[in-house]
Amino acid sequence: MGLDLEAIYTDLHRHPELSFQETRTAGVIAAKLEELGVPFQEGIGKTGIAARIDNGDGPVVWLRADTDGLPVAEQTGLAYASTARGTDPAGNDVPVMHACGHDMHVTAMLGAVERLVATKSEWSGTVVVVFQPAEEYGAGAQAMIADGVLDRFPKPDVVLGQHVTPLPTGVVGVRPGTQMAASDGLTVTLHGRGGHGSRPHSTIDPIVMAAATVMRLQTIVSREIDPRDVAVVTVGSIHAGLKNNIIPAEATLELSLRYPDDAARDRVLEKVDRIVRAEAAASGAEEPTIVTVHTLPPTINDDEATARVTDALRRAFGEDSVLDPGMFTGSEDVSWFARESGASLVYWFWGGVDPQRFADASAAGTLERDIPTNHSPYFAPVLQPTLDRGVENLVVAAREFLGVVQ
Ligand code: ZN
Ligand code: ZN
Repeated sequence: MGLDLEAIYTDLHRHPELSFQETRTAGVIAAKLEELGVPFQEGIGKTGIAARIDNGDGPVVWLRADTDGLPVAEQTGLAYASTARGTDPAGNDVPVMHACGHDMHVTAMLGAVERLVATKSEWSGTVVVVFQPAEEYGAGAQAMIADGVLDRFPKPDVVLGQHVTPLPTGVVGVRPGTQMAASDGLTVTLHGRGGHGSRPHSTIDPIVMAAATVMRLQTIVSREIDPRDVAVVTVGSIHAGLKNNIIPAEATLELSLRYPDDAARDRVLEKVDRIVRAEAAASGAEEPTIVTVHTLPPTINDDEATARVTDALRRAFGEDSVLDPGMFTGSEDVSWFARESGASLVYWFWGGVDPQRFADASAAGTLERDIPTNHSPYFAPVLQPTLDRGVENLVVAAREFLGVVQ
């Protein structure tokens, strides 16, 4: 009796957990690893798990799946839709959903572990399997590394990972070089001087300062970045004030910044810093406070390793099964495992949308409207063949690097 992967998937989908709270999920993973007889360590980086399949001499391949859900109220209407609630870091009661598909990542990984164990006579080497928490915070990989995962397990020669995405089922999107953008999250606090709304001249109004700052920040991409380059400057949150006749003392902006490489990152961060400080100076305010809340490196696929994975997938599933999806402006923390160990990285996307539905939306020019993306309350990969292909992708890619037993 093998693992019932579809049952595992629907169970995980019903019970999503927020970042760094993935205790039930970790319990499910641990139980299945025990069932498969694969040794593992729990509680790495709080709720992470890493397992190892030792199978003689040969390369060390790390396979990584992320485990967390998101504060989104599911509206898919699926029989196994989530009604779960959770408590976010600010203490708010929030709905929770596997709106990014990490439940699919976990389940496919368990299926791959089962397959690799069952076929041990055909390959040699070591497979380390990482179930990483808190990808959505951009913090889980670093938490596991800080907790010694790279020392507790054999260091990788190659790190492999995958993400389910709104491509047709059967299709893998992967490219050498920059696959996903680098990202920083900044919190900017503008310090004004509060006072009575009837006496603005006695205050320094942080709301006006914030408004000017938000508008000026838009000129970074439109006026300062080479139009041939990619950059995103998003102000995703703005908070100030409690009442119409009080000028508050401060305003807070939360920024999400994206760029393809470290050089572009330096340029954009310098421009943000310059504009925020200059707008504060223009208001006669004191220096603003700028705090980096997270930093994600670019996800850069190794050229040679990516070519090997691409060829292996094409041999297994056909020439048309792999395409270059271009660079995504989303970000990932998977590459920390490769960066910190000097290993190669290959990170790919695999399709979870019914091909007919995708083709219809594509023909109608309504892909953006009709095919829900990751983080949407309607995001729902079709269970099959998405799940089976998720397993196959990992096994095919891992076997490409592991030793072959004749
Ligand atoms: Zn996500
Ligand atoms: Zn994700």
